[in-house]
Amino acid sequence: MNNTNGNTYRILTLFGTRPEVIKLAPIIHALEKRPDVFATINVTSGQHKDILYPFIQQFRLRVDEDLALHQPHQKPINVCSRAISALADLYERMKPDLVLVQGDTSTALAGALTGFYLKIPVGHVEAGLRSGDKDNPFPEEMNRRLITRLARYHFAATGTNAATLRSEGVAEEQIVISGNPVVDSLQWALKESRPSDSTKTLLQNVSDKKLLVVTSHRRESFGDLMLERLRRIADFLRRHEDVAMVFPVHPNPVVQEAAQQAFQGVTNANLIAPLDYFDFIHLLSQAWLIVSDSGGVQEEAPTLKKPLLILRENTERPEAVESGAARLVGPSPQKLASMLEELYSSGTWSEELKSISNPFGSGDAGKNIVTAIESFLR
Ligand code: UDP
Repeated sequence: MNNTNGNTYRILTLFGTRPEVIKLAPIIHALEKRPDVFATINVTSGQHKDILYPFIQQFRLRVDEDLALHQPHQKPINVCSRAISALADLYERMKPDLVLVQGDTSTALAGALTGFYLKIPVGHVEAGLRSGDKDNPFPEEMNRRLITRLARYHFAATGTNAATLRSEGVAEEQIVISGNPVVDSLQWALKESRPSDSTKTLLQNVSDKKLLVVTSHRRESFGDLMLERLRRIADFLRRHEDVAMVFPVHPNPVVQEAAQQAFQGVTNANLIAPLDYFDFIHLLSQAWLIVSDSGGVQEEAPTLKKPLLILRENTERPEAVESGAARLVGPSPQKLASMLEELYSSGTWSEELKSISNPFGSGDAGKNIVTAIESFLR
C-alpha cells in the first residue's frame, strides 16, 4: 500500500528536553537509515535552549523547526497551550503521516493531542509507565496517562509497561515491546566518546576516593525536602573523607540555591555545571554510588550495573528496583541518611550487580521501533 505523501512516510518527531533527545535520537537515526521508506521532520519545542542545543549537536540531529516556546518562569499549562497552537499550524503545513512523542512532558501531551484533533496517528515512545499516583510526579503522571488515551501506537520499553497498557484497554496489536532507546544511546556514548579534558581532570582528582554522583532537580523535590536531603548528603560527606561527591547542578535557581546552601564549606563536595551526555555517562560509569531523582538515571544505573538510591516517593520504573540496581529512598531525609551509612559500611552492593540483566533492553530499541512503525504504516 502506498502512503499519502508520495514515496516516503513523513515522520514528525517532537522533542524539548534532554531525555527526549536522548531517547528519540536512536529512532530518528534508524529512520534516517531508511530514506527509501521514511522522511524525517525533527521539531524542537525550544525550551531551555542552553541545555538542549548541546545535546542536539552531540546526538547529531538536524532540527527542521524550532517552535521557540520558552518563556521565563513558564508553567506546564502555558507550555502545553502554546505548544498546541504552534503544533496545529506546523502539522497542517508539514502533513506528517505519523507523529512521534516520548515520555511524559507537557510538550509531548500537546503533540499527541494536536495529532488526535487533526487525525494524524501518534506513536508514543516509552509508553505504559505509571507511578500509581495521578498527582505525583506532577504533571508527568497524568501527561503519560492522557498520551496513552490519545496515541495509536504504543512503544513499551518493558513487558511490565506493555501489561499496564493492556490492563487499561489498549489493544494488543497496537503495543510493541521495544526496549528503551536510552540503552542504545548509552552504549553509543560509551563507545563513541572519551571524557572531555575537564571531566577527565575531575575524574583524576577524585580517583582515589569513592565517587558519589548526585543529581536532583525535580519539581516535587523543591523546597525544604530538597534542602534537607542535600544536607543529609553533606553530613555524610563530612563524616567520610574517602568519599567525593560530584553534583552537576541544574541551572534552575531553586536547585542552585539549595545546593550552595547545603554544601557550603564541604571540601569533598564538587558542585559543577550540568554535563553534556558523553561526560555525564563517563561520570556515571565511574560511580561508587548514584543518588538521583531523575527518571533516565533509573534506566542508566542498571545499564551500567551501578547502584542507585532513588530520591523519590514512588517510581514509575519498578524494573530498576526489581533488577537490584536501585533502591527507593521515599520521602524521609532521615531514611536517606541511614541508607547512605548502611551502604558505606556494608560495601557489597556493586559486587551483587555484576550479574544482573538489564530490564530496559539490549540497545536495539531504535531499530525495533522503526521496524514496527514500518509495519504499522503499511
Ligand atoms: N543528564 C546529562 N547531564 C547531566 C545530568 C543528566 O546528560 O548533567 C542526562 C542523564 O543521562 C539522563 C537525562 O539527562 O538520561 C535525565 O534528564 P532529567 O533528569 O532532566 O529528566 P528525567 O529523566 O527525569 O525525565
